[in-house]
Amino acid sequence: MNLGNLNDNNFSAGPGALPESVLLQAREAILSVPGIGLSVLGISHRSDWFANVVAQAQSDLRSLLGIDDSYHILFLQGGSSLLFGMIPQALLHHPNERADYIRSGYWSSKSIPDAQLFGKVNVGWDGSSGGYRNLPTAGDLSFDDKASYFHYVSNETVEGLQFHDIPGIDSVSRICDMSSDFLSKPIDCERYAMIYAHAQKNLGPAGVTVVVMHESLLDRCRRRDVPAMLSFHRHVEAGSVYNTPPVFAIYVLGLVLRWMLDSIGGLEQMDRVNTRKATCIYDVLDKDRDFWEVHAHPKFRSAMNIAFRLRSPQLESTFLQEAEQVGFRGLEGHRTLGGLRISLYNGVEYSSACRLATFMEEFSNRYRNKGDAGDQHNNERGPLK
Ligand SMILES: *Cc1c(COP(=O)(O)O)cnc(C)c1O
Repeated sequence: MNLGNLNDNNFSAGPGALPESVLLQAREAILSVPGIGLSVLGISHRSDWFANVVAQAQSDLRSLLGIDDSYHILFLQGGSSLLFGMIPQALLHHPNERADYIRSGYWSSKSIPDAQLFGKVNVGWDGSSGGYRNLPTAGDLSFDDKASYFHYVSNETVEGLQFHDIPGIDSVSRICDMSSDFLSKPIDCERYAMIYAHAQKNLGPAGVTVVVMHESLLDRCRRRDVPAMLSFHRHVEAGSVYNTPPVFAIYVLGLVLRWMLDSIGGLEQMDRVNTRKATCIYDVLDKDRDFWEVHAHPKFRSAMNIAFRLRSPQLESTFLQEAEQVGFRGLEGHRTLGGLRISLYNGVEYSSACRLATFMEEFSNRYRNKGDAGDQHNNERGPLK
């Protein structure tokens, strides 16, 4: 089996591609963890080995982010979706307490109903009427400065929208769902009370969610009348091992963090690679705007997820078919938006993005001037190999 070929061309929106070196180490660890002689799937979560895995991953995250012990780092289960509910439950202590939210796309829309169960939600900006092609800039936002916290999603994975500035006012605790762009570029952590991101897009396999929470926010979290598994205090006290954690997912997350430090060299370098990847795809899309249509307004385009369309749905299925024939996978748009989507998470290599860009360029050259091209296959030229 040639692992490289299988994973080099994976543009899945999530779970996303992981670096090949990480997959190889994970494969080895499934049989036997080096130096331990047991499968990673069968080692106790109370072992010294696992305690060290957790401590190392926390310390690697601290060095990548440049944060000290005033931030707690947790590895939780339940995905980012569980945090949509845990956060308001912890911070809105009374139904009259308020929180500010931005509704900028599919995922931030999902976070709001859970908050409304516990308090009053002020939606400081709502992009739904514009079809989620834009994001707010500073003047567009109307905030409640007495809010308990402010929540937003830094990268809307479905629509391909990414904030390039940090919204909100510094006097209200800022909480961000960074599920699809965490560790893709440097982060000004000091400006956040809390950041969370499940692993399966940029960081590792599904099953673990990273929470970075400032101690001052933890102090404000509900202590009583919270089920243990939903209590941030319990998880902090237990050092993320309150119950059986997803050992394998945390182990692989740790491998990815080491890869980011040792092979990539940190978040600035990661950002540089990610920007180059996104640029080579957007360049192709921008070259022929009659053929391709990017969903997001140019100012708010995401470097992680590129949602776009072709002029006919039929041509989109031709695109997917031909792409799959030459090995490009994971290019379907989200079921709610349709169209196409390219996800360029940290694990996707620059050379993969370039190969896809070349394929796209050739595709548009072949189909640009055909009326109803979706029906016709040009047998002579066929899909490129
Ligand atoms: C995928 C995604 C989620 C959902 O995460 P789960 O781990 O499946 O609950 C939440 N927020 C964003 C920004 C996402 O991209």
